[in-house]
Amino acid sequence: MTENQLDQLRGQLDQVNLQLLHLLSERAQIVEEIGKIKEQQGVPKFDPVREQEMLNKLVANNPGPFNDATILQLFKDIFKASLSLQEEEHKKHLLVSRKNSPEDTVVQVKNTFIGGGSSVMVAGPCSVESYEQTREVAAAMKKAGVPVLRGGAFKPRTSPYDFQGLGVEGLKILKQVGDEFGLATISEIVTPADIETAAQYIDIIQIGARNMQNFELLKAAGDLRMPIVLKRGLAATLEEFLHAAEYIVSRGNNQVILIERGIRTYEKWTRNTLDISAVPILKQESHLPVLVDVTHSTGRKDILAPCARAALAAGADGIMVEVHPNPAVALSDAQQQLNIPQFFDFLDNVKGSGLFNG
Ligand code: PEP
Ligand code: MN
Repeated sequence: MTENQLDQLRGQLDQVNLQLLHLLSERAQIVEEIGKIKEQQGVPKFDPVREQEMLNKLVANNPGPFNDATILQLFKDIFKASLSLQEEEHKKHLLVSRKNSPEDTVVQVKNTFIGGGSSVMVAGPCSVESYEQTREVAAAMKKAGVPVLRGGAFKPRTSPYDFQGLGVEGLKILKQVGDEFGLATISEIVTPADIETAAQYIDIIQIGARNMQNFELLKAAGDLRMPIVLKRGLAATLEEFLHAAEYIVSRGNNQVILIERGIRTYEKWTRNTLDISAVPILKQESHLPVLVDVTHSTGRKDILAPCARAALAAGADGIMVEVHPNPAVALSDAQQQLNIPQFFDFLDNVKGSGLFNG
């Protein structure tokens, strides 16, 4: 073979590459069109039956010299790339996606801004147990400069024999104490029937981990025009988490705050496993504020501060932590709540890191 022939064949190969590129791009455009139709029809992008049909047709028409396995491998890669293209397109259509709206969502509650670069601390008891107990924590929060008080009134407990919360009475206590100290309040609501009532008493409605995919509750939260904090489900993927948030935002309520609260793994030395990687991924994928609940994710008082620092370093917009005047006698989560002096130490530690920008 002469140098001349080699150059000629290489020239032909370059031409074929360009033709292949052109055909691949043409194929990708058709794939995008199909993706749009599927999006409108709400049908899944991946259709294994159709994919198998296409592969069968290709093998049946394979002229060689590539063997069938190689042809299958090559086309499967093309199909995979096409599916990713459709999925990227789908993400752009999600209202919670940063692709759809690049600016950070900032949720205002009273005089506090959540998201958009400043850090927020949300603290308070696991459960509202009495006016006195809640007031004592609120007074400490006020002193510490913590703007948002949490406290559960409807408690989703593993056992039906455990304390279930004070219900609406608990919400009224939060309102009274919040008004007295000028604190914003957060409490979990577990059923759509209570959502309108709750809106009269508290500033932020929490949808807890166990209800992350309670779609009727998400829809009811989406019909409100007030901030909602949505906690990640115990075994939810980040995609499922964002789709749950999409339920709320798609009904016109864009004041949604996401909370990573740990997921179930085989690890026994923490209550859950704090998924730190969720923070930068959620911040990248979505414009919604992201908080980290260090209490429920770890279930251990001794590692709250390093976990809070890690969360902030990873880009979290704030921290949620449980505080009780006397954790030993708390009616829920007695093991994991900080007492008030411990909370002040925790706050000093977190602020001392220079990562808390609040
Ligand atoms: C809570 O914050 O009170 C709570 C029950 O948390 P989670 O839903 O994350 O378990
Ligand atoms: Mn708790």
